[in-house]
Amino acid sequence: MRVIIGGIPGVGKTTVLDELVREGYRVENYGDVMLKEAISREYAKNRDELRKLPVEEQKEIQKIAAEKLSQFDDVIIDTHFSVSTKDGYLPGLPIPVLNVLHPDLLISMEADPLDIFERRKNDPMRNRDKDSLERIRAHLEANRSYGITYSAMTGSPLLVVMNENGKAKEASEKIASVVRQCNGGNL
Ligand code: ATP
Ligand code: AMP
Ligand code: MG
Repeated sequence: MRVIIGGIPGVGKTTVLDELVREGYRVENYGDVMLKEAISREYAKNRDELRKLPVEEQKEIQKIAAEKLSQFDDVIIDTHFSVSTKDGYLPGLPIPVLNVLHPDLLISMEADPLDIFERRKNDPMRNRDKDSLERIRAHLEANRSYGITYSAMTGSPLLVVMNENGKAKEASEKIASVVRQCNGGNL
């Protein structure tokens, strides 16, 4: 079973999925795979440079990353349903990517916009965009809309999981419980 989780920067995808890694689930980070490709092509040096690359370069390495990730049949993929670029929102799962990855379940991870604003501000590990609350709200809406679109395109369900402050474990438990029910939970 292939599960794809999308959410805007700082919503807490990696934090929540780290809980599932500890429980033995295979989790792959789409950005890790893209970064490896970008470094080998000398396009970028760190993950926060990826969304600033020319869109054509982002699309090129996005497709390669999908092909690399398609080697895993039973996996949870940590990614973005839409990437905020200087040209506007770039779909994280355009048709060529969906055709390679064939997700069985899509999950939109969401949180209160103010919590996301604070999480970004207090996370020194990353060079995240300093978006206003309004922009964070707009991106959350876009993320959900892209998720609905991917669900309609693939026929796979879209689950919304809230990652409330101090409740990353609860969010991971929700994901684990749905994955167990779906498809015999083969993950
Ligand atoms: P990106 O897309 O940029 O990789 P992300 O969605 O993976 O972002 P994380 O890096 O997991 O986000 O989390 C961002 C910050 O928010 C981290 O400092 C993390 O510790 C914090 N955080 C995540 N979940 C919660 C939570 N439930 N309560 C409080 N803080 C949280
Ligand atoms: P992350 O660590 O999840 O923020 O991933 C690092 C970067 O990889 C993101 O900020 C995006 O620029 C890029 N990325 C991740 N997933 C995708 C995707 N599906 N399509 C395009 N870019 C992506
Ligand atoms: Mg992350």
